[in-house]
Amino acid sequence: MTATTPSDAPDLITLGRRIRHARTSRGLTLDALGKAVDCAPSLLSLIENGRREPRLSLLRTLAEALEVALPDLLADEPPSRRAALEITLERAQRGPLFGALGLPPIRPSQKLPVPVLEQLVGLHAEIARREEEAIATPEEARRANTVLRTERQERDNHMPQIEALAHDMTRRAGYTGGALTHRTVARIAEDLGLTILHVDDLPRSARSVTDWKNGRIYLPPASIPGGHGLRSLALQAIGHRVLGHERPRSYGEFLRQRVEITYFAAACLIPEPTAVEFLSQRKRDKDLAVEDFRDAFGVTHEAAAMRLTNLATVHLGVPLHFLRVGDDGALFRGYANDGIPLPQDVTGAIEGQLVCRWWPAREAFRRRDRATESYQYTDTPAGTFWDSVQTGTAADGRQFSITVGVPYAHAKWFRGRDTQVRHTSTCPDPSCCQRPPSDLTERWQAHSWPSARMHQQVLAALPRGVFPGVDDTDVYRFLERHAPTVPDGRPTA
Ligand SMILES: [Zn+2]
Repeated sequence: MTATTPSDAPDLITLGRRIRHARTSRGLTLDALGKAVDCAPSLLSLIENGRREPRLSLLRTLAEALEVALPDLLADEPPSRRAALEITLERAQRGPLFGALGLPPIRPSQKLPVPVLEQLVGLHAEIARREEEAIATPEEARRANTVLRTERQERDNHMPQIEALAHDMTRRAGYTGGALTHRTVARIAEDLGLTILHVDDLPRSARSVTDWKNGRIYLPPASIPGGHGLRSLALQAIGHRVLGHERPRSYGEFLRQRVEITYFAAACLIPEPTAVEFLSQRKRDKDLAVEDFRDAFGVTHEAAAMRLTNLATVHLGVPLHFLRVGDDGALFRGYANDGIPLPQDVTGAIEGQLVCRWWPAREAFRRRDRATESYQYTDTPAGTFWDSVQTGTAADGRQFSITVGVPYAHAKWFRGRDTQVRHTSTCPDPSCCQRPPSDLTERWQAHSWPSARMHQQVLAALPRGVFPGVDDTDVYRFLERHAPTVPDGRPTA
């Protein structure tokens, strides 16, 4: 590769082609022109190939010898259709995309027929287009996320086929009720010819790695506090297989698979028939509570709250909303089919948006006693909602709150409906809470400059042929280290 910079490279290539065009149309060889301008033919060749920049004095002499005006020689346009193709091919071969292919470049000499040039240029353009297509912009990722959320909302966040699959698999593994044990998860894996192994050197970018060849699921040695439990991670890995997933080709597909394996894991950890029986009884007793649902199935508060969104509308006739909000007030995850106005950006995305200061999701951070759920009624432009909130601490030490709420008419089924806490929210009206009090604005507007924290929502790009955010090389090296070995010590894979 020559060390030409992208900005000057195209000009040099075009200039070279214009010089060559003028020379050949006058029937001059490189040698003849070299003699005429007192310059080595090898240097002229380099100039014609755009690999050397001619001095201005040489350019003037060349223009004279070729009987063209200097500005003509320096014009931007390729001198012919063929030259245009040659220039495009030359540029493509000098780019990083071609460099990464490890192929030898072709000199677009006169011997190369125009149809061959056409095809090469066409292929280079297509490679560039596909490369660009594979990169999901943050905006595309957000839109894909929004499409998925809307779809889930339309079917009340219930996926009957995955429910049936999970029910069948847990039953066959011997599940009868209560929390799904590690032993039962291992039996579900065994049913599929898989062994679960715990290792402490997983690639940092991966939550789990599955070796289909040797039938192994590699998991970390311990649960991440406040994060995904090991049972859930194993079930998600299994989910990819039983749901027939293939390598995602777009960010939307990657997200959809994520939703499906998360759903599958949740449906195994809290199987539908047992859960519905539990919830129906509590509804009859007017004593529904996420914290009890959580404890009955031995999952995190967030997992129980999310699972409730799968079952409450379809089986209990209760529309609801679910929010995970950070201590900075930003929405991390959310779902609603009860009409509560979730904050959105122009694309309809809710992730990273600030929720109303008066919503219980943020009020909860101001409480002293956070050991149990807290309750609140909130009057909004869309009606009155009742919420239960539990706060927690994430692995990075930051606080978050998990909210499950329902419209006023459905509060009667829930523990905590008798709370006296009530707030009014008029968001998205900016006068509700988004605009600071005017006296504060007056004092500080001109004198403050905060530096924002970047949100870690699903905004990463999807590099070609690679799982989003995971380093393939790390994964392959990892599998090499752990694959069972044949007698001479080589891995079987
Ligand atoms: Zn507000």
